[in-house]
Amino acid sequence: MKNKKLLREALEVLPGGVNSPVRAFKAVGGEPIFLVKGRKAKVWDADGNEYIDFLASWGANILGHAHKKVVKAIQEEAEKSLSFGLTNPYEITLARLVVEMVPTVEKVRFVNSGTEATMSAVRLARGITGRKYIVKFEGCYHGHYDSLLVSAGSGVATFGIPGTPGIPEEIAKLTIVLPYNNVEALEKAFKEYGGEIAAVIVEPVAGNMGVVLPKKEFLKELRRITREYNSLLIFDEVITGFRLSKGGAQELFGIEPDITCLGKILGGGLPVGAYGGKKEIMERVAPEGDIYQAGTLAGNPLAMVSGLETLKELRDKEPYKELEEKMEKLAKGVSDILKEKGIPHTVNRIGSMMTVFFTDKEVFDFQTAKTSDTEMFAKFFKALLKNGVLIPPSQFEAWFLTTAHENEDIEDALERIRKAVKEI
Ligand SMILES: *Cc1c(COP(=O)(O)O)cnc(C)c1O
Repeated sequence: MKNKKLLREALEVLPGGVNSPVRAFKAVGGEPIFLVKGRKAKVWDADGNEYIDFLASWGANILGHAHKKVVKAIQEEAEKSLSFGLTNPYEITLARLVVEMVPTVEKVRFVNSGTEATMSAVRLARGITGRKYIVKFEGCYHGHYDSLLVSAGSGVATFGIPGTPGIPEEIAKLTIVLPYNNVEALEKAFKEYGGEIAAVIVEPVAGNMGVVLPKKEFLKELRRITREYNSLLIFDEVITGFRLSKGGAQELFGIEPDITCLGKILGGGLPVGAYGGKKEIMERVAPEGDIYQAGTLAGNPLAMVSGLETLKELRDKEPYKELEEKMEKLAKGVSDILKEKGIPHTVNRIGSMMTVFFTDKEVFDFQTAKTSDTEMFAKFFKALLKNGVLIPPSQFEAWFLTTAHENEDIEDALERIRKAVKEI
């Protein structure tokens, strides 16, 4: 019963026993597990239980756990230095790879997390435009930066906190929140505030209210309206970058944002974020420009080589078609199992990310996402966990597939899920 003992100890020294709220399993009830090992598509907890892993470090682990090339690169680099605090050559190599892969990025600044990336992108947009308002969409999560933690998804959606104490009203007021996929609301907001809106930030495919796809015209209209009013368009591709295609959602949909935020997969499991865009935009970042942003551990050599090996593998192998086929099989399998049991559900899937909502309604924004029966989700999650399948411990998150998930893992998972659903 090591999990139980670890939980007691964790609660004494970590708020809620965790370093990130969703990990406490509050949304699903029951006790959180402590993970000690990962290999390919599987993880093991402190009690030795095995799980097929569809959480995949919230999507960061696209090559699965302990990928040989990534681990080797980190080991070799660790022998040389853990950190210099000055620039190392891998920062250039990784930057070049990002520029090569992401269509609209010509220059990039590395930071340590997705939050830092979006926070810095917003500052850059405000600095360039000299405007203060930011538009975001209800249910989209862009990290825990004050201006963006208003009506956010992910952990905030899970807890139903309308933002959080600690954010001054004056700051929250500078964020205009609109419903996702709603062009009319967007037009209205721009008619009213257009000249004062520095940027619109959006998850081009939402992953943090569960997976919600953009409607056909939504991203196009976003691009058109922001251009019309000289506001910048920020794509938060922290999840979708390197996941939906080599070049992320912007490549898949053929839409050109002004600034792109990256994270998760970019570090291959180590903490890395980045923001980038066209040269004339990124040239405003200090020290080339006047808009300040810095980081002691930014461009950390271990994180750079980890990201480098991960992106190289994705560029060279282009596993996206295969990932999609496997995810489709999983999605269809889960849906069939729920159908047999007569449980109402809607599966939203794109590429290798998906969410099972327990509602028979179409889910296209945060309000429709919230029609999901979260008690049913909690039961489903617990039954899966008991049967050795790990999915994110909240309704408002995405399941992820990795290149390490073999067809047998999918079949094995479906068998476990079938057994689990029988027990609900
Ligand atoms: C995870 C996430 C972030 C925040 O990244 P952190 O590394 O957790 O700070 C920002 N945006 C999106 C879309 C995310 O999914």
